[in-house]
Amino acid sequence: MDLTSVKNIKEIAAHFDFRFSKGLGQNFLTDPSVPEEIARATEITDGALEIGPGFGVLTQALAKTGKKVVSIELDERLLKVLEYTVGEYENVKIIHGDVMKLNLNNLITKEFGNEKISVAANLPYYITTPILTKLIESSLPLKNIVVMVQKEVADRICAEPGTKAYGALTVMCRYYTVPSIVTQVSAGSFMPPPKVDSAVVKLHMCDKPNVDVKDGKMFFRVVKAAFAQRRKTLLNCLAHAFPLPKERLSELLENAGISPSVRGETLGLNEFASIADALTDIDV
Ligand code: SAM
Repeated sequence: MDLTSVKNIKEIAAHFDFRFSKGLGQNFLTDPSVPEEIARATEITDGALEIGPGFGVLTQALAKTGKKVVSIELDERLLKVLEYTVGEYENVKIIHGDVMKLNLNNLITKEFGNEKISVAANLPYYITTPILTKLIESSLPLKNIVVMVQKEVADRICAEPGTKAYGALTVMCRYYTVPSIVTQVSAGSFMPPPKVDSAVVKLHMCDKPNVDVKDGKMFFRVVKAAFAQRRKTLLNCLAHAFPLPKERLSELLENAGISPSVRGETLGLNEFASIADALTDIDV
């Protein structure tokens, strides 16, 4: 069944008396090339975890790879729809649940054993960042994460230092992954169309962080502080977050070769790491 066909989507919705929930971010894909492209970019070798299958358009593309697909859907109404649309695929398992509440480590071990799997999703936009953060920071056995997000979020993930889009999300993604944009997708490729354009991003998970730091928690404390007040200088941001006299912080930055008057958004991974290591050394 062609699940990208607007006619089919309307017929399925009418048959199951299904109304799209804005609150759950239900914008279903209608461009046939996009699910195929996401499935290809996911490079599934040992299985895929899907978040939010909806009517199953991406589930279908993932299932066609022949590998095991486990899809987590929060909306209970969609369970019988998915039984109808993708029930024929023996390699697909639908799990009713909230991706934010499930223990993904346990779920992946139970469903896939010790294999490294990939995640694919057309994400619900109301919780894009919390989902990405959970996926990236939970030490899951992941190979790639390929997700549809708002274009603006894709730009933030792939931003370069010194640009407006560069921020804590960029640094988190670059610390753990190699991010890239797979394709841009216009609002007209969804039903109902969202208010914004979208893009598919691929996050290739690295075996270890992309920069060496003495303490990862301190690294993210520094990143959070540096972006908390974007108009302030790095020195003022750090002074707000760490209980140290400004003179001491200023000296510490200069010793790390960083001007105290720059803004956090100009710093790359290595500079954040130097500051974090200096703060770790004095145990602040
Ligand atoms: N994959 C389908 C597609 O591409 O057409 C639907 C994508 S739609 C943007 C997002 C899906 O995520 C919806 O089916 C929605 O019900 C589901 N969803 C929303 N919040 C969720 C959550 N917390 N956990 C799991 N699924 C969720």
